[in-house]
Parts: sequence; structure tokens; C-alpha cells
Amino acid sequence: MTPDIYNDKRFGINHKDISPNALSIISKLHKSGFKAYIVGGGIRDMIKGLHPKDFDIVTDCEPEEIRRIFRNSRIIGRRFKLVHIAFPDEVLETTTFRSGGTNSSESIEVNDKGRIVRDNHWGTQEEDVMRRDLTINSIYYDPFSHEVIDYTNGIKDLKDRKIKFIGNSSERILEDPVRILRAIRFAAKLNFTIDKEIADGIKEHKHQLLEMPSARLYEEILKLFMSGHAENSYKQLSSHGVFDVLFPHYQDRDGLFHKFFLNAFRETDQRLESGKKLNVGFIYAILLWPKVFIDSEISEQINFKKFYRSIAGVVRKQQIITSVPKKFSSFIKDVWMNQVRFNRVGKKSLNFTKNLRFRAAYDFLLLRGKIEPDLKFTIDWWTEFKTANYDKKIRLLNTYKKKNARRYNS
Ligand code: ATP
Ligand code: MG
Repeated sequence: MTPDIYNDKRFGINHKDISPNALSIISKLHKSGFKAYIVGGGIRDMIKGLHPKDFDIVTDCEPEEIRRIFRNSRIIGRRFKLVHIAFPDEVLETTTFRSGGTNSSESIEVNDKGRIVRDNHWGTQEEDVMRRDLTINSIYYDPFSHEVIDYTNGIKDLKDRKIKFIGNSSERILEDPVRILRAIRFAAKLNFTIDKEIADGIKEHKHQLLEMPSARLYEEILKLFMSGHAENSYKQLSSHGVFDVLFPHYQDRDGLFHKFFLNAFRETDQRLESGKKLNVGFIYAILLWPKVFIDSEISEQINFKKFYRSIAGVVRKQQIITSVPKKFSSFIKDVWMNQVRFNRVGKKSLNFTKNLRFRAAYDFLLLRGKIEPDLKFTIDWWTEFKTANYDKKIRLLNTYKKKNARRYNS
């Protein structure tokens, strides 16, 4: 296999764009007589003119040897062994070339479903290419020789904006179903088109995702919804029928929740864009809201007990698919439970606005308002109430009953 080799100048790549820690690791590996490259997102995003999230390094040096060269390192993973090299400001992943192409499964261990259970046989760069998922993720870059090495037409696919697996899509999905989410995530992030063969593979094998460890799916959910392309991720996931696999608990009969999600994720992306923080709990509160909404019949009449039961049940069921860490599950439940307090206006409302979770609950109420027009009165009232001074708050409380009654009579 002869790769295409380009000079990095062609893509306007500059050492200034690269993590100095990544450069130092590569240089040290070279000095110890090994090959070492930047691979994956680091080079892919630089070619696209984006700022890479991180730099992954690949080398022909084996993990134990990397461990010896870098004192600040440790070996992690069993199914897929790699080395973490720690710096004060970041941790870099360094992997060793893996062997075994898609057609020769001698060196990767697969189970009876074709799933990879172990992938720790070292190989050459040529073999390593074939172990990677997408063509755009298998470009190698040596920043010291300035060579960009492409075995799979990844550069062309980057240019043509295409998401393609290396090898047979169905096989690659069966080897590791999480690749479905990876293909969707990169399509969403880069605004690329998913190859027809992949779309067919997803359709056929999407339920395999449910057999993946919930912790791994959780990690992917974070990357899909918390990296600035949540709206696109949602669109891609739902158009490929994957959203319903990950969040299977409701039926969106009239497209109401579709609207809710589009709007909520657009705002999520805008929040990140304007430098605000995102809370995982809030994202989950959005993702799981339809089921709570339907089960508890919150739009009709609130039955507190029923509401609490629905909430607990929805979170519990989701845990089985994508884990929901404990520290976030209490946040999620609080945001939902607090929705009830917006309808129970009284003396306690004064304290509610000082509640730690008030802001999140209020933001959530605004999102609900987009699909529940009946909430307009409540939203307007709370919007005024929350910023009012004490005297005005008391006045608003005193007139609430009358105003609320008038709205039903008119
Ligand atoms: P990101 O910008 O999210 O970091 P990335 O492409 O660098 O994107 P990583 O998860 O950091 O993704 O993985 C680094 C590289 O390792 C990928 O580009 C790909 O070549 C390979 N890789 C990661 N996960 C898989 C997988 N499940 N199957 C095959 N190859 C994978
Ligand atoms: Mg990466």
C-alpha cells in the first residue's frame, strides 16, 4: 500500500497550532529511535482549519517502553491498551500501532457477534491504518519531517465532506457499534455527509448499541451534546433512527418534542458559543423530558406523587442504556421537580428565587414555553417576579391570585 504524502505547508499547518506537549513527546520518541505521529482529530481538524480539541499520538514504541521513556505516564485500558502521558495542563493519549486489518482477524479477538474483545497486538503503520474507523481519522502527521501521510483517501474525503468507514461498513459497526455514534458525531461536528453504505449499516445494526457498556455510551452522549454541535447531533441521530434507540421511552406523535429538542439544543450551542458553561444534568433534563411530561401529565394537572414517581422511573430506565452519574441525577430531578413550584405561587416563592437550582429550573421553564403556549402567563409572571425587589415581590404575590383567576375567566 503506497500512501499519498503531502507537505504540511499545503494545508497551512504551523507548529504554533500544535500542542507543545505533543511536539515534545514526538521529539523524544524520535530521539529514542521510534516513529511517532499525530493522528486522528489533531491533524484532521488542523487540515480543516479548526482548532483541535486534543492531539493523539501514535508510535511503533510499545506501551511498556513508552512508560519507561516518560516518567509522567501510565498504561490504561485492557481491551484497548494505551498510555496516558500527563502534563500540568493536559493529558495526551499515546497508542501503539495495531495490527490486523478488517479481513484478517488473526490479531484482533472478536466474539461470536463479530465484536472486538481485545485489540492489543502491535503492528506496522500500514496495519494500524486499517484498525481506525473513518478515512478522515486515519491521516498521520510527522511535524518534524513535515509529512502528512494518507493511506485511505482521507484528504479527499475531507475535501469532499464525506464520512466513510475504512473497509466494509457493516463489519466495522459490528466490530464496535459505538462507531455508529462516532460517524454521526463527526458528521454533525463537521457538517459532512454520511456515506450511503454507513447509513444502511446503521439502520441494520443500530440496536447493537444497547449492548454496549453504558459508561461508554455516556461518554459519547457528552461529546455529541456538549461540544457546540448539539442541534446537528440531534438532527443526525434522529434522521438515522438512533435517537430513539438511545432514548426509547416516548412517542412523539405530533412532532411536538422534535420542536422542543431543536430549540433546546440550538440554545445549548449558543450558550457554549457565548462562553457560558453547560451542565450535563441540564442536557439530560432536556433529553429525558418528553417521557416525564407524558407520564406525569404535567400539562393537565399536577399530581405531586405521580410526578415524582415518573421522574425516578425515567432516570432509572435511562441508567441502563447510558449511565447517568449520581451527582447529575439529583440535579436533573431538581430541575424537573422545581417545575411544579412555578405553579404553586405563595409565600414560599420568595425563597424559591434564592434556591441554588432556581436559575436552571427557570431556564427549563422557558424551554417548555416553546411547546406549551399555556405557560405564557406563568413565564411572564416569574420573569417579572424574579428580578423584582422585595416590596414589588410582595405586591406581585398579592395580586397573583386575582390575575391568575382573570386569565381563566377571560
Ligand atoms: P476528537 O476530536 O473527538 O478527539 P478523534 O478523531 O481524535 O476526535 P478520538 O476518540 O480522540 O477521536 O480517537 C483518536 C483516533 O483513534 C481516531 O481519530 C481514530 O483514528 C481512532 N479511534 C478512536 N476510536 C475508535 C474506534 N472506536 N474504532 C476505530 N478507531 C478509533
Ligand atoms: Mg482525539
